[in-house]
Amino acid sequence: MTWRDDKRWVYSITYDEGCQALLEHALPIHRRYGVPGHVCIVSREVGIPRSTKGSSYEGMLILSRDEIHMLSGEGWGLSCHSMTHAAITDQNAHHEVVEAKAALEEVAGRPISIFCVPGNHDGYPPARAVAEQAGYRAIMTIYDDINPPDCDLMRLCRVPLHTEYPPPFYSAYDPYKRLHQCADAGGWVMDYAHCPLPDKPVHPWKDCTTAQLEQRFETVLRVGGGDVWLAEPNEVVEYILAQRGSL
Ligand SMILES: [Zn+2]
Repeated sequence: MTWRDDKRWVYSITYDEGCQALLEHALPIHRRYGVPGHVCIVSREVGIPRSTKGSSYEGMLILSRDEIHMLSGEGWGLSCHSMTHAAITDQNAHHEVVEAKAALEEVAGRPISIFCVPGNHDGYPPARAVAEQAGYRAIMTIYDDINPPDCDLMRLCRVPLHTEYPPPFYSAYDPYKRLHQCADAGGWVMDYAHCPLPDKPVHPWKDCTTAQLEQRFETVLRVGGGDVWLAEPNEVVEYILAQRGSL
């Protein structure tokens, strides 16, 4: 499959939680490199400090309705990251996946068609069980892989950008992570971070620094040249569905 404008592969990036600090620290880098961003928002946390117990981001202010609209005006996308960030189970899936969609649509003023699984990959099966009927057209997971052109839209993989991977394995930051694999496969690589900050990440497993984010974009543009489509994930989902004749 060729991608939009005859591009050979696709690059996207998403930020889980949607901290307001993205405006100061990530948005300028996005503008400089022409990469559209995407925030995965917990429906009940819009415009208030993050209140998920145990989260590394607890207490950090989440983007407000107006800020979400401002980012949309700059080409950023939005997906639903559940109602409360609880681990999804068969018991709470209706609230966390189905009702959360309507709640975020009220904020966004437009349909939300991607669900982003919170926590770890264990929440994926119960989320998937209700997502399609709720009207979602894609699900983002935190399974680390590229998405080939024939990917399952209801199981999209994302690549974590982290300063250092947890012990006992350890893994240093790699600005090339999966880019050549994706270019060879003609696929779609979708990075994920939370809230890159200067100097030190909020959490070394969950984030990179702003310098590393900038290095990632510079590497994507240098490796990808004219072959890479810098895309917002909703655009890519729409494009794939249109190619498959499902729109
Ligand atoms: Zn999250």
